[in-house]
Formats: sequence, C-alpha cells, structure tokens
Amino acid sequence: MKPMGALPPEFAQQDGPLNIAGRTADDWVMQAGDTPLFVYDMAIVAARIARFRTAMPAIDLHYAIKANPHGDLLTAIAPLVDGLDVASSGELAKALAVKPAASISFAGPGKRDDELTAAITAGATLNVESEGEAARALAIGDGTGVTPRMAVRVNPDIELRGSGMRMGGRASPFGVDAVRAAALVKAIVAAGADWRGFHIYAGSQALDPGAIIETQAATIALAARLAEEAGAAPPLVNLGGGFGVPYFAGDVALDIERVGAALAEALASRPPILAETRFAIELGRWLVAEAGVYLTRVIDIKQSQGETFIIVDGGLNHQLAASGNFGTVVRRNYPLAVAARMGRDAVDTLSVVGPLCTPLDRLGDKIALPPVEVGDLIAIFMAGAYGASASPSAFLGHPAAIEIVTAP
Ligand SMILES: *Cc1c(COP(=O)(O)O)cnc(C)c1O
Repeated sequence: MKPMGALPPEFAQQDGPLNIAGRTADDWVMQAGDTPLFVYDMAIVAARIARFRTAMPAIDLHYAIKANPHGDLLTAIAPLVDGLDVASSGELAKALAVKPAASISFAGPGKRDDELTAAITAGATLNVESEGEAARALAIGDGTGVTPRMAVRVNPDIELRGSGMRMGGRASPFGVDAVRAAALVKAIVAAGADWRGFHIYAGSQALDPGAIIETQAATIALAARLAEEAGAAPPLVNLGGGFGVPYFAGDVALDIERVGAALAEALASRPPILAETRFAIELGRWLVAEAGVYLTRVIDIKQSQGETFIIVDGGLNHQLAASGNFGTVVRRNYPLAVAARMGRDAVDTLSVVGPLCTPLDRLGDKIALPPVEVGDLIAIFMAGAYGASASPSAFLGHPAAIEIVTAP
C-alpha cells in the first residue's frame, strides 16, 4: 500500500455521502448530466481569501488566473481580490471582462506585438520581461499614442528554498537579471512610460513558512536596492507568491499567519525609498486548489496478477497533475475518496486508473479505500488549480470535463 495526501479540511471529517457546498456528489452529477466533472466550491475560495486578508491586511492580493481561468470562477473571485495577473492575450481578455484594466498585470516571456498592443491600449500593466520587449512596448506606445504602464519583472538573485518550481537564482527566460534591472527602469522612465514598479517572483508551491519569510525579506531588500540604483521609487512591488498547498502524504499546510506577521515586521523597517510603495502578493493554487473536486465514475473493476484496478471514466486528460505528470519528479498520490462512503474504513488496496490507453493514466497507485463498486463516484481532491485547463483534453478524444462553479 502507498500513502495518499490528506483531504482538505472542509472534506476531511465528512461521514456518509460526500458533501460539496451543501449538496451530495450525486446531486452535482445529476445537475451536470454526466461525468467526469469538476465542482469548484466558491465558499472555500472565499474562506481562503478571508484568511489571507486577516493574515496580511496591508498587502494587495492578486489572483494568478492561470491556476484556474474558468469564467464563472473569475466572475466570482474578481470582486474579492485587488488584482488579476494574466499571461496571455486570452487571459487578458477574460480578466478585462471582470476587472478594471488598472488592476490587471500581464507577465510572461514571449508577448507578441498584438498582445502588447492589447494590453497597452486597454491600460493594463505589462510586467516587462526583457529589454527587447520593453523597446517593442515603447514603440507601440508611440504608435498608438497611449502611454504604456510598465513594471519590470526581475529575475532575482534569490531562490525560494524548497519550492516545487524554482524560478529565481539562476539563468531564466523570466524577467531581467537583477544586475540589469535598474538600467531598464531608467530607460522606461526616460522614455516617458508610466513605470509601475517591480515584479519579483522567486518560486511556487512552497510549504515552509521560513523559506517564504526569508524570500520575502530578500525580495524587499532587492527592490529597495534596485530602486536606489534606478533613482526612482516604485509605486508597487509585487513580491510574487509561491504559497503552496498540501497535495501529498506528509505535507503540512502553510502557516500563512506566521508569514503575515513576519512580512508586517519586514515592511515596518523597510528602506525609506519604499516608504510610499504598495506591496502585492500574487497567488494561484493557494486560493483555488482545495476548492475543487473532480468526480469520475467507476466503469469497471478488474484483477491482474494480484492487483485490483478501479477503472474510471476520467483521467489525465482532465487531471494531469493527479497522475503525477505535471511538474513532479516522483509520482505520489493525491487525496482520493469513494464519494458514497466518506469516513468508512479502508478495506482494500486498489489502483485507480483512467480510460486512456497509456500506463501514465494512473490517478491512485495502490491506495487503501473503502469497498468500491462499478457505478460509484470516485472523488479526487485538490482539483481546483491546474486541472481542466492544464491537462491535455484532446489526447485520446474523450469529451472535455464538465465544470461547475458553485454560487458563493
Ligand atoms: C504561475 C504563476 C503564479 C501562480 O503560481 P501558484 O503556484 O499557482 O500560486 C504566480 N505568478 C506567476 C508569475 C506565475 O507564473
């Protein structure tokens, strides 16, 4: 038997049929009309946001919409956050539909001229990733007669320790190396653009509060140093994010209250050049991952050489991350449950596999579950981030998953 991650707190203590936002899993499937489906519980998202607000009252909260770009979810989350971070013109259009342009920032290497034009004319902030991109943006500003709003994304000489995905402290396609950032700020200011500040993102999926605290302190120091060098005070410093969620056995949920207390202290003693600066944190998965449940139906159960396979109608085509093929080195089990029998003792060691003709399509590997029958619903938790939109839905030609966003 192999371990699996813990269910999110909202589901961990349930007994009997799985309840999502006040309704059973069967109810949601009936409303959807079919399986597989994702249900996103907006009350859980709102609870995470409320917790952030209490822990970090002075910090702006941005939602990185690549974690879950579903339109209904964006509509619901937009009034609860201060900004939306996008990384393509498609995401930009979705963000502009729900939030004023001045609160939208656009990051990502390789922004095309038409994407720069769309952002500049709408009035969104470009997180500029290179000198070349800055030059193109300034030229588009001249051509359109609209002053571009530009922040400089810095490739920090800091890395976020223990983060699942390190984005700093090394050669990177993201941002401008810290040693070149001040010169770029000067050029942007000299060109008459509206310089918005710095975007400094050092990593993702960190669960160690000590590592985040260290990185935030170093990020504030770096922003101050660059501002001094550039001779300009940044209106905004986006400190990145990197708040992780517990997917796997042994993971401990991040203590954001501790992070918030340390950040308040670091900001209280910040260098004078940052006195008037606002600070933002951009989060994706921490806001939405635990709110999502993926429901898939058992099609067949079979034995092979002593192993029992539960074969379900959804797989890595919808939930790539749960199969261990989205940025993890070693495959580990996401939290799973038999939706009809929450809280029941596990009796069997089973493997849950999807319908795709590839051995990669394994959603649960030798996990302990209560009795399972053909027709049961299997629930896969932690499905609110990097699920439907981050999975190869065209692979093998099955229908796309249905997605339902609950009323908040
Ligand atoms: C992906 C990304 C995020 C969101 O990351 P999470 O781990 O989901 O919080 C935030 N900022 C940037 C720049 C990103 O690329």
